[in-house]
Amino acid sequence: MLLSDPATYVPGTLDVAGDADLRRYWLDLFRRHIASVVAHVAREHPDEPALQRRMETAARAFASDVDAFEADPSTRFDTLQLCATRERRLREAGVDDPFRRAKARENEAALRLLPALLAEIDGLAEARRLERLVRGIFAGNVFDLGSPATAALFAEGGIGFEAVRARLPARPWRVDDLEALEERFEREIRRALLFVDNAGGDVVLGMLPFARELLRRGTRVVLSANETPTLNDVTHDELVALVEHLATTDPILAEALSQGRLVLVTSGNGLPLLDLRTLGAALRAEIGRHPPDLVVLEGMGRAVESNWHARLTCDVLKIAMLKDVTVARYLGGTLYDVVCRFEPATPVAGSKPIA
Ligand code: MG
Repeated sequence: MLLSDPATYVPGTLDVAGDADLRRYWLDLFRRHIASVVAHVAREHPDEPALQRRMETAARAFASDVDAFEADPSTRFDTLQLCATRERRLREAGVDDPFRRAKARENEAALRLLPALLAEIDGLAEARRLERLVRGIFAGNVFDLGSPATAALFAEGGIGFEAVRARLPARPWRVDDLEALEERFEREIRRALLFVDNAGGDVVLGMLPFARELLRRGTRVVLSANETPTLNDVTHDELVALVEHLATTDPILAEALSQGRLVLVTSGNGLPLLDLRTLGAALRAEIGRHPPDLVVLEGMGRAVESNWHARLTCDVLKIAMLKDVTVARYLGGTLYDVVCRFEPATPVAGSKPIA
C-alpha cells in the first residue's frame, strides 16, 4: 500500500550496521540519549520518584542492549530497530510517556503563537503562501527531543519558533523542490495524507497551518500521528484534542471537521521512524477507501532516515530539518540544513505504462 515496489522497500536510508564508523556513532548516540532521558525525567518529574526509578531501570536495560550490539560486529541493526528496542525497554519498565509534560508545555506555547501566524499567512498573496508554510514546517521541526543537538537547546530553555524561522538557511535549500511543489499546488489535490512528527511548534505552527491551507483549497486531508508515545512525537489522541480545540476558534478547521474533510487517523505506529509496511488497520482501510494523491512525510525520521529512497504510487513531499550530522552529511549538507523534496507518483514496479 502506497509503495510502488514493496519487494525492494527498506525503511532504512543509512547503512548503519555496515559502516564501522556510523555504527559506533549511532550506538554511542542512543547510549547518550537514553541517559539524557533519565535526566529529563528527573528534571520534569521531581514529584514522581517511582517514575524516576522505573526510567533508570529502562535506561540500564537499553544500555545493555546497545552494549550487546556493540560487542558483536556481525549483528545487523538499523535505527528503526534501535528505536523499537528502546520503546520496548521503556514499556517493560512501566514508563509510558517520559515526554508528556514537555509536549503539553510546548503545545501550549505554540497555541499562543498560532493566531498571529495564521493571520500572517492569511494576509499573504496566494503566490507567497506555500513558501511561508514550508518554512514554518522547517522551523517547527526543530522541536525534537530525540536529537541530542536540539534536546540540549530545549533543556537550556527552549528556542523560539520565530527565531528559528528567521535563521533558516537561505534558498536553495539542501534539497529544494519548492518550485515543483508550487506547480503541483496549481493543480487540484483531491486527497492528502499527512504523516506528522513532533508535538508543540512542529505540528501546531508547521503542519496544521499547512493542512489548513490544503483544506482552504478544498482538499480532503487525513492527519496521521503515532498511536503510542515515542520521544516528543505527537500522539493521535493528543492531536485529536489539539485539532478539536483549534476548531472552536478557526472556521476553516471547524467547517472541514464538520464536513468530514479533515480526518484524523492513527498511523498505528509508535516509533519516530516510519515503516510504510506496518501502517495500522484503520489507516490502511482509510487509504483503501480514499487513496491519496499526495502523501507528506514530515521530519527527519519519517522523511529521511526511513523513507528517503521510498518510491510511492502517489505524489510525495519529504520535508525535514536535518538535526543529525551523519544524516546531513549523507545528503551532502550540514547540521540544521533543510530538505523539501517533491517526487511525482511512481508507477507500481513491473506494471507497463499505458500506451
Ligand atoms: Mg519526532
